[in-house]
Amino acid sequence: MTWDAYYELDDIYAWIDDLVATYPTVASTIEGGTSHEGRTIKGIKISHGSGKKIIFIESGIHAREWITPAVTNYIINELLSSTDEETQAAARDFDWYIFPVTNPDGYIWTHTEFRLWRKNRRPFGDEVGVDLNRNWNNNWLGVGSSNVTSSNTYAGPGPFSEAETRTLSEYISSLADDIELYLSMHSSGQLLLLPFGNTTEPLANYYDAMKIGRRAMGALSVRYGTPYTTGNIAEAIYLATGTSIDWVKEALKIPLVYCYELRDRGTYGHLLPADQILPSGEETMDSILEMIHQARRLDYMNSGSGLHASLLTIAFVFVNYVMF
Ligand SMILES: [Zn+2]
Repeated sequence: MTWDAYYELDDIYAWIDDLVATYPTVASTIEGGTSHEGRTIKGIKISHGSGKKIIFIESGIHAREWITPAVTNYIINELLSSTDEETQAAARDFDWYIFPVTNPDGYIWTHTEFRLWRKNRRPFGDEVGVDLNRNWNNNWLGVGSSNVTSSNTYAGPGPFSEAETRTLSEYISSLADDIELYLSMHSSGQLLLLPFGNTTEPLANYYDAMKIGRRAMGALSVRYGTPYTTGNIAEAIYLATGTSIDWVKEALKIPLVYCYELRDRGTYGHLLPADQILPSGEETMDSILEMIHQARRLDYMNSGSGLHASLLTIAFVFVNYVMF
């Protein structure tokens, strides 16, 4: 694996196996589900000990958005081999569940047949494919999705009708109690999106999520000056329903949920040159570290060490009491 080329599915899956062999005490292979054509949605779990809170990364659900598996692979590599202290701490403090390619059939299609394919590969008469990011069971077939099979935003015959979304959502549900941060990787547009896509109403913990997100995007821009805009889906991009982040937020009540729209802002779009993989990976990793930092300041993502923190507070109060 290098950071100057886009890789095919088999290469990415073989690389995950290699990592697990190289870091057997920390890394393990995980299966998030199965595709329509029967392929495994393979991922990697990075854990320095049980009982940690989870950061979940879902990437590559739109087949043509090649920068997303590439950046996600970069993040995996950093978590396992970086010498940076903050990165090492992030790797140690959480259990990371990471899936670089959640639409494996579509991803293969973009490499072998049609570079700009977006959907999965399930046939419907003469047409093929469901937009897997319109198929989640939250406001399904609402604004911004289509019931026409030829459409690029075809929402499918029903919510969770697709093997990929059904199996992956079951897998995510099984971990829901421990997930503190959920990231969904897309391109392009340089946006950080938060739920929801059907309304611009500031629902749930919108203000906290905005504050954390904006600061994370500030950190992202430091290295190369790449500007990102933060907002909920509906206010920042367009109305969209049946997306993974809306379902994860509403059905599973995950505290912090974001969707990245990675580089760029239209010059190359989905055909982003491979020489942008490394800088995209670096700046995205910067932003995730800042996201964790800012979340903790607002009292998110502390649950794993909550007992530790309160014991420290008690000790501090006790020392003060004795001294004065
Ligand atoms: Zn996308």
